[in-house]
Parts: sequence; structure tokens; C-alpha cells
Amino acid sequence: MKTLFRLLPSVDKLLQEFSKRKELVHISQPLQREQINRFLDLCRQEIKDSVVTDPEDLGWEKIAARAASFVRSQSRPHFRRVINGTGVVVHTNLGRSILADAVVDAVSDACRYYSNLEFNLETGKRGIRYAHVEELLCKLTGAEAALVVNNNAAAVLLILDTWAKGKEAIVSRGELVEIGGSFRIPDVMAKSGATLKEVGATNRTHVRDYEQAITENTAVLMRVHTSNYRIIGFHKAVSQEDLVALGNKHALPVIEDMGSGNFFDFSAYNMMPEPTVQKTVAAGLDIISFSGDKLLGGPQAGIIIGKKKYIDPIKTNQMNRAMRIDKMTLAALEATLRLYLDPELARKSVPTLAMITADVRFLRAKAGRIKKRIAAHFSSNMSVTLLPGVSRVGGGAFPEQDIQTTLVGIKNTLCTADELKTVLLATDPPLVGRIENDYFCLDPRTINDKEIPLVVDVLEQAINGLG
Ligand SMILES: *Cc1c(COP(=O)(O)O)cnc(C)c1O
Repeated sequence: MKTLFRLLPSVDKLLQEFSKRKELVHISQPLQREQINRFLDLCRQEIKDSVVTDPEDLGWEKIAARAASFVRSQSRPHFRRVINGTGVVVHTNLGRSILADAVVDAVSDACRYYSNLEFNLETGKRGIRYAHVEELLCKLTGAEAALVVNNNAAAVLLILDTWAKGKEAIVSRGELVEIGGSFRIPDVMAKSGATLKEVGATNRTHVRDYEQAITENTAVLMRVHTSNYRIIGFHKAVSQEDLVALGNKHALPVIEDMGSGNFFDFSAYNMMPEPTVQKTVAAGLDIISFSGDKLLGGPQAGIIIGKKKYIDPIKTNQMNRAMRIDKMTLAALEATLRLYLDPELARKSVPTLAMITADVRFLRAKAGRIKKRIAAHFSSNMSVTLLPGVSRVGGGAFPEQDIQTTLVGIKNTLCTADELKTVLLATDPPLVGRIENDYFCLDPRTINDKEIPLVVDVLEQAINGLG
């Protein structure tokens, strides 16, 4: 064991070696020294635990390469890019929507320069931050007023705090949703200080159920779009129009949490019917909220639109200040909304829309290109095949909707598909895929053409790691 310890190189020798390596020069000397020390500690532990027993494993070339890769990996940002090969377009764990190029430029400007965030250029006085998007939101949706907050969970909380605090909000039992990551409608309502009054049965709720529950304590009637599940079979929910009529009759505001608010009508693309925000406004809902980064394809945000008399008190609620949207998000949201002024431009340039509506032939051709690149790069060990498969929208939108795609299935002789899936999480950048029919599969729907060479590169990194 003593001889093994003696084989470990000195910190200075490694430092000197690293000063010649291009990929490490951007890391400062003190940081490199600290990380080399950590690396050598790990090596000593491995020798003590008899994980390393062969002197060959401590040869200079080998140890220098391992040390370099350790230092590089420690210096990588923790939060970083991944390649999404899952085919789930609005993948909450992978950052939901990615943004259009024009949108990224707007964010970059907002970060790089000062802006008129809260400065009215006409009066030279203080302005309002969400004024930058209010007009656009109203134009696109037909609503009278709008504001934006941090996310839709905040939007729901703020709406209920403003309109139902200390009073009752009536909701159908069939709509008490939980969204992944612990957003539960009943819990959010409790936090807002509103009392939830559940009506109807899980599968069926009628207008009379809401009506019978109305008392002098009732503040609002609420609908929650059951965006991430579907009740099928013996099922009845009250329509937007019928609930609005009931609200009007009793002078109660009618609220809808749309979850994944979409401006785009997907019906021409073989998708199940999904109400648009425009239709919901037209149905007469008083207050509507939805996320910015689900089907809209913008940044994380909670968008609140509706009738002016109901939106104005929400704007002045003190709680709004604690949920306010930051300038980068605001820049991204405005730029995204501008694309929607031309729906076909939005469909092509908002990545979420483009990926969801991608043509099956286009996807098959892209899968073919990925297969070809991989097959050309790896002469042996790797087999690549095309398989029919399905993609999912994700983000709690279009549950149960299978969208046809062509998967690229990968197998290699060095490891199982599961092992390949695991090692690909440690490549740079990591590649996230899924297993199907014992193949590690990539769905071209969520892989950009520009990422194809990168896919080959990370497969190479993975195979080298295995060797
Ligand atoms: C996604 C969702 C939310 C939460 O939205 P965030 O923007 O993630 O906060 C709330 N309600 C419904 C119905 C949803 O689908």
C-alpha cells in the first residue's frame, strides 16, 4: 500500500501539466490546486479501501487524465444544458419550454443594458413593469386587463387572496387537481385564506350543485382546467358558459385556472380539443390565469387576464409585489407574445409549438439523419435502428395524447441500454433519453438539427467512459 501511495503525483506536478492543457486554462490556479487536492484525497481513500490495488492504475498518464477530468467536471456549472431526447416537449424537469431565438435576444438585451422596466418614456416618470405586456395580452386574448406574476401557482394564490380571502370559493370535486411538484389546488386555496367548498361528485358535477352551495359567504365560483388528467366514461362537468351564467345570476365572479393556457388552436394538427385562452375569454370568464412556460412556449410566468373591474384590485394587492416578475422574464414574455401576433409565425418560431406540430415525415427524416450520423461514426459496437413510437406534450397538457414519431433506437455491445442511459447522464452535455424494446431511444421531436453532431459526440464520450 505504501508503494501505491508513493505513486501519486504531487500537486505541483499536476498543476504544471494542467497549465499546458487548453481545456483547463480558464480555471484559476488556486481553484485548480484546491480541486487537485480533493482529487488526491479521493485517490488515497481508494487505495486505503483497496479499490485501487494495481500500480498500473496509478501510472502518470492515467492519473493525469483522471485528475484533469475531475478538475473539469468540478468546474462545470451545476445548472447546465442537457439534450432532451425524450420527446416530451414541455418537460418540467428539463426546464419546460425553450425559447425562440428572437426571444433569447430580447432577454440578452434586458440583461446587458439598462431598460425602461419601470420608467415611462412618454412622461419621463415612474412606469409600471407589466404595462409592457398588458396591451399585447389584451389584444391577443380579447381580455380587458392583464397582469403577470412569477408563475401560475402565484397567480391562483393572488387571485384568491384578492377575491375570496375569508370567504368561500366553490369548486367541483372533479377539478381538485394536483400538479407534479406538489401544487395542489385545495392547498393553495387554504393558503390564500379562502375556504374551499367542494361540490358535485368526482365524475359528475351539475350547475345545480354549484347553485345549491351558494350562500352569503360565497365569494367566487371557480373552474380548474383538469390539464394533466382526463375523466372518461360517465362524466359531466359544467361548461364555461353555464358557470358564467350562474355567476351573473348571483353577481359572483367566475374564475378559471387554465393551467396550460394556449393561444394556438391545435385542432388542425390531429390533437384532442383543448380550449384556447381566447375562447375562455369569449365565454365570459371574469378572471383567468395560466402559465407562461407550458403550451404558450414562453418563460416561466403566471398570466392573469380578465375584466378590468376584477383585475384592478388584483394589481393593487400588496401580495403582488412579492410575486413580481423579473425583467428577463418580462423581456422574454413580451418577445414571445409578439410572435403570436402572427399565428403561423408563432407556430414556426416558438419552439414548443414547432415541436408539437412537427410533421411525421419531417420527424422520420430527422430520425434517419441521426441514425446515419451515428452509424457513420461508430464502425463497430453500435447498432442503430428506427422504431415507430409516440411523443408526449408534457407539462400537464394534452394528457393521454399520443403523437406519432419515429424513434432512433441505439444498442451497443459494451453495455445494456439501461447502463447506456445512465452513462449518458454524465457526458458533456448530458443526453436524456428513454428505454423502449431494450433500446436506448432518442425522439427527434425534441432534438434540434444543430444538436445532432453533439449527440454523436456524447455517445462517443459515453463509449470511451465504458471502455
Ligand atoms: C401547471 C398548473 C399550475 C401551476 O402552474 P405553474 O406555472 O407551474 O406555477 C396550476 N394549475 C394548473 C391547472 C396547472 O396545470
